[in-house]
Amino acid sequence: MAQVYERVALIGLGLIASSMFWAMKRGGLAGEVTGFARSPETRETAREIGLCDVVYDDIHDAVRGADLVVLCVPVGVMGSVMEQISGSLKKGATVTDVGSVKRDVINNVMPHLPEGVQFVAGHPLAGTEHSGPRSGFAELFDNRWCLLVPAEGSDPAATAQLRKLWEGIGSNVEEMDADHHDRVLAVTSHAPHLIAYTMVGVADDLRRVTDSEVIKYSAAGFRDFTRIAASDPTMWRDVFLSNKDATLEILGRFTEELFALQRAIRQGDGAHLHDYFTRTRAIRRGIIEAGQDTDEPNFGRGNGSNT
Ligand code: NAP
Repeated sequence: MAQVYERVALIGLGLIASSMFWAMKRGGLAGEVTGFARSPETRETAREIGLCDVVYDDIHDAVRGADLVVLCVPVGVMGSVMEQISGSLKKGATVTDVGSVKRDVINNVMPHLPEGVQFVAGHPLAGTEHSGPRSGFAELFDNRWCLLVPAEGSDPAATAQLRKLWEGIGSNVEEMDADHHDRVLAVTSHAPHLIAYTMVGVADDLRRVTDSEVIKYSAAGFRDFTRIAASDPTMWRDVFLSNKDATLEILGRFTEELFALQRAIRQGDGAHLHDYFTRTRAIRRGIIEAGQDTDEPNFGRGNGSNT
């Protein structure tokens, strides 16, 4: 695969940045990759495992001369990181991000964008419940979607080049408007995470009275919730605070449906439950057919003993 950028800077060195790095190396997509992380511990780990060609202690050194700067920090600090680096960006550079919310990030980043620098927001729809510099792997984005949201008035050539990078990393790329992105993700990711957090929270309360039986006899449904609810607390706090309106709207609808199902159970309305579960089963089939999950029993976990 051909090189897409001469110099790429990764700001924040967690799951997403490290996966991008290994995928860029795999594809020979960048001449040199520099990195910066907030804490000395993360920078030390990155150096130890060879994450980035050079890891800088100073954020300005990391972005100086970069053709592409990727903000891989929690959504709530994108604006302040952009403010910090804006004076050190090269003319003609592109800045992008990987944040899970787009409208809020664009609103917070754009006021600090210097003349002659492009901002094309991005969101790879891939992740795990793990975080930190050791959690990344080159295959994370293979055959997953990456949504690009070019800032208003940005140069289409900047978006085209970034698209090439994400395609080289293994993703399918689509462009989307920021508000639409936030609405779609509220349905497919943000509200489900909140529901998983709630369910695990409820079970945690139960645990106190049933003496750890919830863990001991944990069935697949609950275990899957616990995996989602183990996701990074900072990242998800920021996602909900940044995508407030869309998430609240979906949760409102969720609550209404939940009440309807509650009523069906109370009234013994088996037909309602059966129809509902038939509809949801078809959605699962659609996801498998689109190649976005495995059809293997128990998500391909073999005997089901691992989590
Ligand atoms: P991560 O593994 O927790 O890494 C986050 C990185 O950001 C770390 O290097 C951390 O530095 C740094 N950081 C945290 N707070 C900071 C602050 N206040 N100022 C400067 N740097 C800070 O997170 P991740 O999963 O890679 O997520 C990064 C971004 O990708 C988030 O915006 C998230 O919404 C988005 N995203 C995540 C997923 C997912 O499933 N995980 C999927 C798609 C998109 P230290 O190590 O020094 O603390």
